[in-house]
Amino acid sequence: MVIKWILLITLVFLIFWFFKQFRQIQRKPPDTTRKVIEDMVRCAYCDVHLPKSESIVEHGRYFCCTKHRQLYSQSQPDDK
Ligand SMILES: [Zn+2]
Repeated sequence: MVIKWILLITLVFLIFWFFKQFRQIQRKPPDTTRKVIEDMVRCAYCDVHLPKSESIVEHGRYFCCTKHRQLYSQSQPDDK
């Protein structure tokens, strides 16, 4: 009777442990791989590198923020 209970408790514990491990494996990879795969672009004004999704695109040029986009267009008077 006692052995039966011990086996049952160990089995429940193993299932719980396995489920916990499986959830951790499932959760971790997508976040890290997504950031690694994402294209990096360079701000045309300050040369800082940033992910393409976070950049501001204008006339095929990438900028890290709207301020740098404005400053760049001001410094390029021939670009109408
Ligand atoms: Zn910038």
